[in-house]
Amino acid sequence: MGRMLNKAVERLEFLGQISDNPRSLVRTYLSPANRQAAECLLGWMAELGMKTEHLSDGTVRGVLPGPEPEAKPLLLGSHLDTVINAGKYDGALGLIAALAALEELRDEGIQLPFPVHLLGFSDEEGVRFQTTYLGSRGVTGQLDPATRNRLDAAGQSQALVLATEGWHEGASEIHYEHGNVRGYVEIHIEQGRILEECDEPACVVSGINGQSRLLVTLTGRTEHAGTTPMELRRDALTAAAEAILATEKLARDQTGLVATVGKIEVLPGGSNSIPGVTSFTLDFRHPVDAERVRLLKALEDSVRKITASRQLELDWQLVQENDAVVCDAGLTADLCDALERVTGSRRQLASGAGHDGVAISKVAPVGMIFVRCRAGLSHHPEEYASPADIGVGIRVLVEFLKSLPA
Ligand SMILES: [Zn+2]
Repeated sequence: MGRMLNKAVERLEFLGQISDNPRSLVRTYLSPANRQAAECLLGWMAELGMKTEHLSDGTVRGVLPGPEPEAKPLLLGSHLDTVINAGKYDGALGLIAALAALEELRDEGIQLPFPVHLLGFSDEEGVRFQTTYLGSRGVTGQLDPATRNRLDAAGQSQALVLATEGWHEGASEIHYEHGNVRGYVEIHIEQGRILEECDEPACVVSGINGQSRLLVTLTGRTEHAGTTPMELRRDALTAAAEAILATEKLARDQTGLVATVGKIEVLPGGSNSIPGVTSFTLDFRHPVDAERVRLLKALEDSVRKITASRQLELDWQLVQENDAVVCDAGLTADLCDALERVTGSRRQLASGAGHDGVAISKVAPVGMIFVRCRAGLSHHPEEYASPADIGVGIRVLVEFLKSLPA
């Protein structure tokens, strides 16, 4: 295990050096560094005896056929792309941990009774075309044709980039559909602080939170700040302050709910004018869709009361909504058993961030393992997971793989 862990950490450092920018880490969809990282992963998969292939969109796959190549495969994987000025664990850890677990099984002389496919997705973060999961939506037939028309910063459409920068030479087609996959399991850093707070190295993911995004606009009346008596004012900013604090209180009182006002605009925005209009964004997430909808309605009701009592108008506009993904009960139970054998804990956490499992859950059962990361820091160059915690994550995956029947 020690030698295998050292190799995993060395590989993380190695991938962390492959960047399109010499001073910081960045690998976006079909960029030279993204492809170089994919080639590197292909090399490691081939060393492990996997049959390797790539798609024209830069996603790569290694296959261990096992004794029954026609049986439904178990998919492992994560993403090769990064955000701008990224850390070296988000995505890469899932790929390297999966490789390490498979190498450990080989060294122990264990052949799994089903095929394993390791997938390195070319795009999860969606940096280049502001659209997430291009890799995992691609292999599951969920690419909306409209995404092909999206433009990158240079004004090139995704279709053009794929045609001109795509990895066409020797490319394969990979397609998974409902019923032909045993499951998808991914290791990822937590990107939050809960494991650090409860002092545990890893946990199982119960699901990926559903999310509502809103734009809330309060309209009152702009008047003179010196001449308008306090009791006659219809101040849109003080009402918004009350609404934002009500949002925070609701989220503090309700387990599982996280709510954030991240952006606020005040009009007319003068120091001596009473604010007439205030707009703010609301990001509202919960692991259970019905609860998210119920709590959002409760919040809307209390914000309506606040605005009515202050004689303001309220525009409560839903901008975007994503349903929660519930991890598969069977895979999650098996992962919890494996976690318990390694750490003694069966802790489960809901993921606040999205992952490739969101796309893959449309065709296959999904399970995930989180590894603790320092201070919950992610999408940041100081992102860090300790070798000891990475080792725990790999051992959980090894135990899990060994426990699966044919
Ligand atoms: Zn990620």
